[in-house]
Amino acid sequence: MSDWYRDFANSGFGTTITENLGLPRPAVLRRYEPGQPLLPGPAVIGSAGEGRLRDALTELLRAEGVHVQSPVTADGATDGEKPAAVILDATGLRTPADLASAHDFLAPAVKRLRATGRVLILADPPSDADSPAQAAARQALDGLVRSIAKELRGGSTANLVHVPVGAEGSIASPVRFFLSGRSAYVDGQVMSVSSADIPVAADDEKPLAGKVAVVTGAARGIGAAIAKVMARDGAHVVAVDIPAAGDKLAEVANEIGGTALQLDITASDAAQRLIEHLEERHGGVDVVVHNAGITRDKLLVNMDAARWNSVMAVNLQAMLDITQALLDGDVFKPGARVVCVSSQSGIAGNRGQTNYAASKAGVIGMVRAWAPQFAERNATINAVAPGFIVTEMTAKMPFGTREIGSRINSLQQGGLPVDVAETIAWLTQPGSAGVNGQTVRVCGQSMLGA
Ligand code: NAD
Repeated sequence: MSDWYRDFANSGFGTTITENLGLPRPAVLRRYEPGQPLLPGPAVIGSAGEGRLRDALTELLRAEGVHVQSPVTADGATDGEKPAAVILDATGLRTPADLASAHDFLAPAVKRLRATGRVLILADPPSDADSPAQAAARQALDGLVRSIAKELRGGSTANLVHVPVGAEGSIASPVRFFLSGRSAYVDGQVMSVSSADIPVAADDEKPLAGKVAVVTGAARGIGAAIAKVMARDGAHVVAVDIPAAGDKLAEVANEIGGTALQLDITASDAAQRLIEHLEERHGGVDVVVHNAGITRDKLLVNMDAARWNSVMAVNLQAMLDITQALLDGDVFKPGARVVCVSSQSGIAGNRGQTNYAASKAGVIGMVRAWAPQFAERNATINAVAPGFIVTEMTAKMPFGTREIGSRINSLQQGGLPVDVAETIAWLTQPGSAGVNGQTVRVCGQSMLGA
């Protein structure tokens, strides 16, 4: 499904028209392809105060074959090519006055950032600060990064990762994600890592090799994209969907060399049937992606119990019941990963979607509450909250609603199912053990619920 306006705005004639009329020009985003280098150009790393991550960041990027440039000097001298990434280690911040050094580094560096570039800030969480002044300085970064994300053009993004003391060993996976094309539609976000045992990656190209991954709602849309990306990354995928979607489910499973399992996740024996399948064929499960979801929209005052109950049953209760049964039955293998699909509606609310938004907000609370229990097993549970994603469902919206819905974000376009899939696949990697209890929005920094 192509984005007609983006394609027009990037054509020769369209560029002239959009420039003259001052219209937005959505960029073609940099998306991940296997074998691609981490960045299409050099990176520049700076620090605000005495940052404790700078050396590790430099080493990490050099190991990825990225040339690390010196920051722009006071007299404006630069070190060659325009950077593809600007990274600030802000772990040295003590007071708001120290933010001046963040500004001194970022302003000239971001000015030189090339299209589809990345700005990434790493900092301590405000909640761990020693003083109100330090908390203020750390929280200030939130406003800074979200504003940079709104100012960037050309498909570039800006994000912030909180790294508490002791969690330094967990940064490699999120840093790679945010710099790579996997995070194309993740913009203006703030997330945290925690300390964890990080296994050494066996194969960067196939991070999920040897893993068994269940994906629910895999017959079409975002679920089919998740199944394909996880198979590309090396997983054996057990693709789950309702019997009525059996033909499409079989097509997806065949295409990726996975297994199709027809199962209504709300059935009373759903968890038991899934467990039997996983135990008999695979001796357990490494990854579960709870993606299946439905909408039954009506204004609250007109919403009958059937609409309310069916949405709650598929979008929330089934995730709770199946995950609890997998825990109780000890079906999760060591280092297991669970990812639950929430929605921007669960953060911002949406007219006509009290049932859907309640279920999707519930997902966010659920992963946060379960995270400590998962951490004890060196496992993780996270959520992703997609914004406007271009699917068959959104293609059926009236033209005006669809155009507005897809443009009101910093990247001025809808995301693709693959953008959600890449984020989920990243969360399931062994190296992402330090990302737990988080909800990562895949919304291009949507203005809704920002
Ligand atoms: P979709 O309707 O295209 O696909 C959902 C799939 O889930 C279907 O194949 C359906 O058969 C399956 N399913 C529904 N009920 C099931 C059940 N009881 N048991 C097993 N399978 C069941 O939807 P999509 O757009 O691909 O959305 C996927 C997920 O992403 C959903 O959770 C949705 O709420 C969420 N989401 C989508 C968007 C978007 O813009 N498309 C935005 C935010 C969140």
